[in-house]
Amino acid sequence: MLIAHLPAGYLLSKAWPRKGRVLTVAALIGAVFPDLDPLWQNFIDHGWFHHHEYWVHIPAFWAMIGAVVFPALAWKARYALPVATVFFAAIALHLLLDALVGGISWLWPATNELFVLVEIPLVRTHWIWDFLFHWTFLAEIAIWLVAAALFFRNRSTRPLPA
Ligand SMILES: [Zn+2]
Repeated sequence: MLIAHLPAGYLLSKAWPRKGRVLTVAALIGAVFPDLDPLWQNFIDHGWFHHHEYWVHIPAFWAMIGAVVFPALAWKARYALPVATVFFAAIALHLLLDALVGGISWLWPATNELFVLVEIPLVRTHWIWDFLFHWTFLAEIAIWLVAAALFFRNRSTRPLPA
């Protein structure tokens, strides 16, 4: 997924049973957090690896982190559990959306193979054009449109300050 992680995080926060500014921010950060790895990919590893091979795109890694974080929060900072939960849910949403065309290592550490739902044929001069002109990009546009409609509807129905 190229451009729809942020609005997908926004939609997640709107669908979440509990509401609040902190929960929305946690959902937005979690929705884009895994895509910080291209910074490492390009500036440190100089593009040697697909960025979905880094730990932030590996579900088992997040399961291990969650296995440590959630019990620790439940023990010492129960008030932070809702924020951590929506953050991890947004991470999971990111990985699910990336699995559509980007490939995710669902079975790591058993295998490093990236599993992808829809393979986009690379036929143009740059891969970005192949992704932009593939039908799957319509899903990204749809996510943006729904999120924008919800965002502007919420703004227009918000009461004016007194
Ligand atoms: Zn990603």
